[in-house]
Amino acid sequence: MKIDRIELIHCRVPLVEPFRISSGAVAEKDGIVVRVVTDVGVGHGESSPMTGAFYGADTPESCWKELSESLAPAMVGAGFTNVLDAAAHVGTLAASNFSRTGLETAFWDIEAQRQGKPLYELLGGSKVDVPSGLAVGLYDDVKDLLRAIERYRPDGYKRFKIKIERGRDVELVKAVRQEFGDIPLYVDANCAYDLTDLEIFRRLDEFNLMMFEQPFAGGALKELAVLQSQVRTPVCLDESLESVEDTAEAIRLGSFRIGNIKIQRVGGFGNALKIHDMCQAAGIPVWMGTMPELGVGCVQGLHMATLPNCKFPTDVEASTRWFRDDIIAPFLEVRDGILNLPDTPGLGFTVDDAKLDKYVVARQSFGG
Ligand SMILES: [Mg+2]
Repeated sequence: MKIDRIELIHCRVPLVEPFRISSGAVAEKDGIVVRVVTDVGVGHGESSPMTGAFYGADTPESCWKELSESLAPAMVGAGFTNVLDAAAHVGTLAASNFSRTGLETAFWDIEAQRQGKPLYELLGGSKVDVPSGLAVGLYDDVKDLLRAIERYRPDGYKRFKIKIERGRDVELVKAVRQEFGDIPLYVDANCAYDLTDLEIFRRLDEFNLMMFEQPFAGGALKELAVLQSQVRTPVCLDESLESVEDTAEAIRLGSFRIGNIKIQRVGGFGNALKIHDMCQAAGIPVWMGTMPELGVGCVQGLHMATLPNCKFPTDVEASTRWFRDDIIAPFLEVRDGILNLPDTPGLGFTVDDAKLDKYVVARQSFGG
């Protein structure tokens, strides 16, 4: 297999409403679409960090630099025994996981098409209905939070997740429970707390939540294990699960009972599959999270969400939930809380060139 051309297309799509969590807010979504052209087919990936180092150090600018100055030049023109060897090779190159994901995932799309299979089948998943969950950000007024949940309830989302931060936690959960009763609900703290907040989690423990997502900092695995030993509610790790090694350590320490896997954060499908399998072997169910990405990245998460150990609704939502527009056709739609994947080969969705042209911020091509 030979890589003939790599195209990078940095797009920026306006959000329906600003998305706010404990670490900041964004109003537009940036994504770098990576198109890889080989002698056996064309595939698409997405490198999708949030603007302003939202979830970590990576930004659209830092990923653009890595992709355009090192990854694309290193890969273009290269030959590999097979397509998935090329995917594995991306993991050996010096770059952030967000940048690697853009390239790595494109090879899986190519390989699935080459085999005439939908991507989920290549990944080890099957054609199943994927339940979708609603995630809502932080609002200044509790009423706005309740209104956001109310607005999307008719779509039938299978669970509701609200963001919390210090000083805005128990009262939010209480308000949601009062308004909506015993809906499937949980909280995501995005690392905002530490062990000194144990009492808050003891209080939250009384609300029959499905999980506490990432209560403490990513590296605080020992402290998370202490928390897990003190509460009934399962601790779910998100930011902590950056690599196969981090996951192994968190399993060893007993830091969590549920895992949230993000393809972007772990560097692509290869590592996401390893983490999925490790958790499965340890009896820890997982689910697929999002950043959220633009359409390509969301569809990738959806394919992964059909794997057997993905046992909770995914964070992948309808295209129009977060974005005023999307770069794929058709859009992702949630019906009665369910997302469906077509059984056509590869991603199963078309990357819409007209939309890339409309939202392009920068574009660069490598090779012929
Ligand atoms: Mg999270």
